Amino acid sequence: MTHPLRCNCGALTGTVERERLTNHSICYCKDCQAFARFLGRDAELLDARGGCENIQVLPKDVQLNEGTQHLACIRLSENGLLRWYAACCNTPIGNTPATSKLPFVGLSRACLESSAPTVAKSFGPVRFCAFTSGARGEPKPKSFGVLGFALWLVRNRLRARFTGGFRNNPFFDTTSDRPVVDPKVLSPPERDKLREREAINAA
Ligand SMILES: [Zn+2]
Ligand SMILES: [Zn+2]
Repeated sequence: MTHPLRCNCGALTGTVERERLTNHSICYCKDCQAFARFLGRDAELLDARGGCENIQVLPKDVQLNEGTQHLACIRLSENGLLRWYAACCNTPIGNTPATSKLPFVGLSRACLESSAPTVAKSFGPVRFCAFTSGARGEPKPKSFGVLGFALWLVRNRLRARFTGGFRNNPFFDTTSDRPVVDPKVLSPPERDKLREREAINAA
């Protein structure tokens, strides 16, 4: 079974194989919040506490079909994750490490909820809740599932190594290990501006 992937305007489409192990998570980190603000869509993409949902899957289980020319990528800093989005309508697609040798992508829920089946039906309940210190308000949500997520990463990394599965990755040319789109790295002032907007929103 596959789950449809689609940006909001429908120009970029793809699929996710969902019978493999996936990891449904919610992240409260400041960088995910800054990325939502960069897209100008924080009000829709973040919940009341500033959390956003991601589904971690293996890159080889993601296929992008139409509209890949809209795929764009930023990094919030030199060493930040690659944050992929569809530039046609500023829909977040997902986050990847800067190398295809660490085979995972945290797909944004926003590109997975265009049609049935629902995200919960395909990927199960939230099993991992991270970086809760970045949540708005008190008390902070409790983090959970960290160990499960760490094991998931190790297991998939080993499996991809032994099966060569890391060679199929829609976000990288795996021969050169270069991303398919050159990421734009935000300058520190650009990033700080996104953070400042948070302070203004919170006030
Ligand atoms: Zn679009
Ligand atoms: Zn995050």
